[in-house]
Amino acid sequence: MAAQTVASASTDSAFGPASALSCRECGERFPLEPLFACEACFGPLEVAYDLPSGDPETLRKRIESGPNNIWRYAPLLPVPADVASKPNLNPGFTKLVKADNLARELGVTGGLHIKDDSGNPTHSFKDRVVAIALEAARTFGLTTLSCSSTGNLAGAVGAAAARAGFRSCVFIPHDLEEGKVVMAAVYGGELVGIEGTYDDVNRFCSELIGDPIGEGWGFVNVNLRPYYGEGSKTLAYEICEQLGWRLPDNIVIPIASGSQLTKIDKGLRELIALGLVEEKPYRIYGAQAEGCSPVSTAFKAGHDVVRPQKPNTIAKSLAIGNPADGPYVLDIARRTGGAVEDVNDEQVVDAIKLLARTEGIFAETAGGVTVGVLRKLIETGQLDPAGETVVLNTGDGLKTLDAVAPTSRPTATIRPSLDAFRAAGLAG
Ligand SMILES: *Cc1c(COP(=O)(O)O)cnc(C)c1O
Ligand SMILES: [Zn+2]
Repeated sequence: MAAQTVASASTDSAFGPASALSCRECGERFPLEPLFACEACFGPLEVAYDLPSGDPETLRKRIESGPNNIWRYAPLLPVPADVASKPNLNPGFTKLVKADNLARELGVTGGLHIKDDSGNPTHSFKDRVVAIALEAARTFGLTTLSCSSTGNLAGAVGAAAARAGFRSCVFIPHDLEEGKVVMAAVYGGELVGIEGTYDDVNRFCSELIGDPIGEGWGFVNVNLRPYYGEGSKTLAYEICEQLGWRLPDNIVIPIASGSQLTKIDKGLRELIALGLVEEKPYRIYGAQAEGCSPVSTAFKAGHDVVRPQKPNTIAKSLAIGNPADGPYVLDIARRTGGAVEDVNDEQVVDAIKLLARTEGIFAETAGGVTVGVLRKLIETGQLDPAGETVVLNTGDGLKTLDAVAPTSRPTATIRPSLDAFRAAGLAG
């Protein structure tokens, strides 16, 4: 187990409104420490809160007067009240883009929005989760920031560690896209390619945590996972605030481990409980690539358990064959009346180009998965196009150029003359 030296010295206020870790399976409670599995039943732990009580209008005003990043929601996160003054990448408050052109193409009549998280500091949604895990690492006195990554997380950890003055050592499958590898390495920390899949990387990291080598290490998505996960709630908060403090009808969310999807649902339920949005039904849809679709396969078969798969898809950021939160994703999709669907690699590429052509947004493959799945959900009658819909783009297309490079070339390459331009058939 990683060092917990400073943990006992930490005051309650280091975690703001958070009161304990609680087991998602048996409800057993534990102190706020670098723990991730229940000692009673091995179930995953999550952060429990004493959320602010009182007038929702006061809380709404306090949030609206906060900084233009995730720290405006500090009263709802496991972070100290002065978190915004500490060195951090300050991610979030990314654009919610009204996507009328894409809506027309897809036949969405109830309003369509892209939550575009490519605008974060390292160009993926992972900056949100790392920002929270970093604060926990600081409080616990951990000195090395680490992770097992499908690509984006490695870059987000490397950058956050550089900013905050931590050592970093991150682990990735050896065969990732060039853009992901370079972004993970450029911040100067250690980057280790593991010969194997993400699931092999993750298993290796669990071993490292259990070994004395892992003393003082904060693996953001392993021993700091309960804190890390809370960062995804900010997507739910932002979407509702940007809609004018309203819930959408449908949200389409990509699934790797399933953490993001489950925490967006948690965030929405908190907003309802706090009276910050009016309660109404909402549907949560999960999106996977066909080449790594353990959750959508289980959903379609009506199973409660998720059978691991060996990933084979261009959507590498989502290529987790044994997703930790898979069963919880199934629960949420079923409880809210949503679904989990998948699209093949060709449909991912088509969807990346569709989004770029209609809205001027260049998504990474994960965004191709969500937009492609949205299209499929509408075509198959699983999503009501008359509902107000939000689709997530969680990463930047510049990191996965290979997906569209073969079919995105210059229209013509010519000599610099009008004759050549005419000869190329471009003169109108
Ligand atoms: C990590 C990641 C996700 C979602 O990951 P979860 O493990 O399901 O939380 C989605 N999109 C991108 C681009 C990612 O890098
Ligand atoms: Zn338990």
